[in-house]
Amino acid sequence: MIPLSLLEPNHRILVIDDNKAIHDDLRKVLLGEVDTVEHLQDDETLLFGIETLPIVRFEIDSAYQGQEGLAKLEQSLAEGRPYALVFVDVRMPPGWDGVETIAHLWKADPHLQAVICTAYSDYFWTDIQRRLGHSDNLLILKKPFDNIEVTQLAHALTRKWLLSRQVEAKVDDLDSMVAERTAELRSAHEQTEREFQQRAKAQEAFGIIFQASTIGIALLDRGGRYVDVNRAFEALFELAQDQLIGKNPGELDAATQRTMRVLHQEIERKREVEAQEIAYESRTGRRTGLLWTRDVEIHDCPYRLCLLLNITDRKEMEEELRRARIQAEDAAKAKSEFLANMSHEIRTPMNGILGFTELALQTDLTPDQRDYLETVESSARSLLRIINDILDFSKIEAGRLDLESVPFSLRECLENAAGVVHSSAARKQLDFSWKVSPGTPDNLMGDETRLRQILLNLMGNAVKFTAAGSVTTEVSAAPFDGSRVDLQFAVRDTGIGIPVEKQALIFEPFRQAEGCMTRKYGGTGLGLAIVTRLLGLVGGRIWVESKVGVGSTFYFTIPFPLSHQPLAPRHNSGMLAEAPTAPLSILVAEDNDVSRLLVKRLLTKQGHTVAEARTGLEAVTLCERGTFDMILMDVQMPDMDGFEATVEIRARESATGEHIPIIALTAHAIKGDRERCLEAGMDDYLSKPIRPSELSAAIRRASLRGAGVGTVR
Ligand code: ADP
Repeated sequence: MIPLSLLEPNHRILVIDDNKAIHDDLRKVLLGEVDTVEHLQDDETLLFGIETLPIVRFEIDSAYQGQEGLAKLEQSLAEGRPYALVFVDVRMPPGWDGVETIAHLWKADPHLQAVICTAYSDYFWTDIQRRLGHSDNLLILKKPFDNIEVTQLAHALTRKWLLSRQVEAKVDDLDSMVAERTAELRSAHEQTEREFQQRAKAQEAFGIIFQASTIGIALLDRGGRYVDVNRAFEALFELAQDQLIGKNPGELDAATQRTMRVLHQEIERKREVEAQEIAYESRTGRRTGLLWTRDVEIHDCPYRLCLLLNITDRKEMEEELRRARIQAEDAAKAKSEFLANMSHEIRTPMNGILGFTELALQTDLTPDQRDYLETVESSARSLLRIINDILDFSKIEAGRLDLESVPFSLRECLENAAGVVHSSAARKQLDFSWKVSPGTPDNLMGDETRLRQILLNLMGNAVKFTAAGSVTTEVSAAPFDGSRVDLQFAVRDTGIGIPVEKQALIFEPFRQAEGCMTRKYGGTGLGLAIVTRLLGLVGGRIWVESKVGVGSTFYFTIPFPLSHQPLAPRHNSGMLAEAPTAPLSILVAEDNDVSRLLVKRLLTKQGHTVAEARTGLEAVTLCERGTFDMILMDVQMPDMDGFEATVEIRARESATGEHIPIIALTAHAIKGDRERCLEAGMDDYLSKPIRPSELSAAIRRASLRGAGVGTVR
């Protein structure tokens, strides 16, 4: 179909007649007319200045038989130049007659306007109509033609062709417009339908979520009336929806008002509540809830949204946890106290065993007796080490290990630890050495005792697991600023080494590289676990590099603040112990008979005279009565402990200005003992089991201090 905009007037005419004269006549009529009219119009324009209508020029083709006419028509259609009008003669022997020809032509082009020309009535008009149908595209022209009739027909029918095509195109345009609009409407409708369904689904989903929520949800209108509540909300207060919806708090029944009082107070009191705990009554008991409220707008209407979560169970669980935690803390405290007592209880007899063994070893003995007693002494020392390890480990695990932060010398600490291990290394003829890299700072702040403990452990293991070769310890510092330094220690041996798969395991408590080694080398498997934990407490770390049969290197790092304070002078216990002390009169306050007897023996052996007290109170009384040069004071005693007794003695001294040196004797396991001793006014501190050399050194120090020489840290 040609679009409306492209339709143009069409004056192409096909004449189909077997008589050539007819063609000439029609041509003369239709084409001759143009010349005449043209002349007339030119004259009119010339004479009267009248503008005339445009002149129509027909194009006329001829065919002499129906088939030829059809062929021309088909060609014209193929070229896009259709005929508007055809004049067809009725009789055209021997081919198709005019009626048949028109039938064929219309099949090819239904828009073609046809004029059937007849000289006499070849057909009844009714016959033609029967054969071609009632078509408004068909006219009959009777011969002979009237010129004006032909001209008029040609004008009218070519115009009709154009008009009918225009109408058709218009209708087509309208049809496609309608189809377009219909499609638009349909898609708009489908879109609306989809949106409607989505909204319905969303609403359904919201409804399901609203109802399935475990948080109680209530929607109230501006007047405080309940608009909707979900099942969780009903469950919170054990109420049904219809008891609430449409009512404001004042309109609820008395029981419901009571139940929901706290909630309504909160909603009333604050615009927005943020996760606030509220206690409320349900019909079956007291509950705790977490409340949120929000002002919201739904479809332009303001509402108050309340969210309430029942946390009663959680609160109860928290309470139970709190109770359990207190119980656990009590238990941990009890454990720690138990350990402290155990420590005291074990150390006291150990004190006796070691002390008296040492005394016995100083007497005349047969070689066998000496051998036995030396074995007793070394066994007792091993036992003491094991007990110390277990106590240390328990204290660290219970988080009850206090670390000191005092100035100390790195080199002295190393020397000290190396001094302890050196003799066992010498016995095995190992090459034992230690060195500090140049530039490593010496004045550190920290817990020297614990650093020494770590070094003793690693050096001790290195010597223990090395049969021949060397054990060396090296210390170096990472680049440091003026305030702190990261030290790295390496303890290297040429011992048995540790298989790779055991290297991580040995840092766990009670684990040893080889179970059967224990018998050969001894040990509890706690040393490295304690070292690892101690390093963890001070922000350090430990690792090992080792090869079986070649040796091991244990590395550890510790950060230390640098100390800028001058170090207190060290006591050289050996020298002090060796220097003779003038005979003194010493009061020994100790409740344990064996310990007291031991100290007494040690003192009398050194030429001192000894008075004895069994309780703190007795010590205070004796001290007031007698004149003593010094007191050795046990810390844990019945009636009045060593701390109280010291405080009492110092209080009495404040009147006279005297100061009797007091040395504490303690089982060392109670947290903060050392500080407490010094705080109570004691001058020095000896931990049990007491070694004769340490006792002598302490007495020497205290007597020098009494004489105004030296200081006690
Ligand atoms: P203990 O030495 O009391 O058994 P440790 O925790 O100090 O406990 O050491 C655990 C284990 O690690 C040791 O039993 C030993 O198997 C292994 N180990 C530690 N140090 C060394 C070392 N220098 N050479 C070889 N093996 C070692």
